[in-house]
Amino acid sequence: EMAALTRIGLAGLAVMGQNLALNIAEKGFPISVYNRTTSKVDETVERAHVEGNLPLYGFHDPASFIQSIQKPRVVIMLVKAGAPVDQTIQTLSAHMEKGDCIIDGGNEWYENTERREKAMNELGLLYLGMGVSGGEEGARNGPSLMPGGSYEAYQRIEDILLKVAAQVPDSGPCVTYIGTGGSGNFVKMVHNGIEYGDMQLIAEAYDVLRSVGKLSNEELHAVFSDWNKGELLSFLIEITADIFTIKDDKGEGYLVDKVLDKTGMKGTGKWTVQQAAELSVAAPTIEASLDSRFLSGLKDERVEASKVFGPGILSGGPEVDKAQLIDDVRQALYASKICSYAQGMNILKAKSTEKGWGLNLGELARIWKGGCIIRAIFLDRIKQAYDRNANLANLLVDPEFAKEILDRQAAWRRVVSLAINYGVSTPGMSASLAYFDSYRRDRLPANLVQAQRDYFGAHTYERTDMGGAFHTEWFKIA
Ligand code: NAP
Repeated sequence: EMAALTRIGLAGLAVMGQNLALNIAEKGFPISVYNRTTSKVDETVERAHVEGNLPLYGFHDPASFIQSIQKPRVVIMLVKAGAPVDQTIQTLSAHMEKGDCIIDGGNEWYENTERREKAMNELGLLYLGMGVSGGEEGARNGPSLMPGGSYEAYQRIEDILLKVAAQVPDSGPCVTYIGTGGSGNFVKMVHNGIEYGDMQLIAEAYDVLRSVGKLSNEELHAVFSDWNKGELLSFLIEITADIFTIKDDKGEGYLVDKVLDKTGMKGTGKWTVQQAAELSVAAPTIEASLDSRFLSGLKDERVEASKVFGPGILSGGPEVDKAQLIDDVRQALYASKICSYAQGMNILKAKSTEKGWGLNLGELARIWKGGCIIRAIFLDRIKQAYDRNANLANLLVDPEFAKEILDRQAAWRRVVSLAINYGVSTPGMSASLAYFDSYRRDRLPANLVQAQRDYFGAHTYERTDMGGAFHTEWFKIA
């Protein structure tokens, strides 16, 4: 039974809410919980009991839920993004008082958070949009938290967040105040876009090794386990290694070979690509990963097309040396990953400038080191790059990353050429390589595009050798 008022409340007890509430209670902060469907309240209370008599208290109606929390009150919401958030805010705020605070922990579109923050402020309530990463396991044992909005509200719960977040030795808890407005949701969104890129690049590495190198699942397991001991050490490489060991529970062979090649998605990757375009920031690797999900969805069309063009890999490519291929693919994956992160960081930087958020990119890399899907040793290098130069134009030109890319570019080019010759699509690796090759060249064929624009549309052009805007009547001269 509850002795006094609780420290904080949480509404929305599906996978994420239930686990985050238990995590908060376990860290010693008495918590009140509520869910529209009350059976989930009872379920959560039961779990709190079973998982160690945690100080968690369930309520079946919003009024007594809110009244059970100490003032000024803080309530975290973890409900389905969109209209359910508006409905939950209405339900909760009806019982709240000036100075109380609502935090949306869902994957919300950042502009919705900014709209709600304004509406809440008019009622005298504070508002935060907080990205929560790491899925079910992260929420329970330590997520990466990306809170944005009212700094005053952040300070009020900073002690809780610091304890609840994933703890990474030598770099601290995976939480930081992100910035004002919808910045927390925006950063979480780009994090998810980067996650799309990582997953696609890993899938391409797998495809090249399997389709060209003819590696078995046992060999793939060994390769990814080995990679997870070095520069690629990360959660996604680790689970990938695991996946190759799992036998089919409904038949012969390995489960991965029975999984339909059709990727689902919930929207944050698409939002990231849309935002990149809105900001005029090139993000070809992240875009390629989204396009790959779209193309994967056309299973029936692909099956038909394979009857026309031939289904498999092309023959007649050069003989490949397995050990060399494995080492090349590792390097191609790493170099491609640098480009993908450079793109994600550039989206964040451009948005930060537009919105005046003052995002600290190195600090973002730090809080992604634990608790989230993209957690990786690699993020240390990004943090260090921004420590060296907070205003870095692009991760590619950080001296350490530049050296790493130069060291790997021969292998990277070999893998992409090999894949092209074998007809194995590597959209992410190819997009990363093209990004690098465009970025590093001091002269691109854009002169011709600009000449065409001036030819047909009198759009004018600049010259390499003198200042000003010029227009030529090209067709008359020709
Ligand atoms: P979810 O499936 O997105 O949402 C279910 C929750 O929303 C339930 O508590 C449900 O209440 C509530 N809800 C739905 N419509 C409602 C309405 N109209 N009014 C009041 N409550 C309503 O849950 P989730 O997977 O735990 O995710 C919660 C949030 O975290 C989402 O924004 C999600 O995108 C984000 N997120 C999820 C993950 C993940 O791995 N699942 C990871 C990171 C972030 P009832 O029980 O009454 O239906």
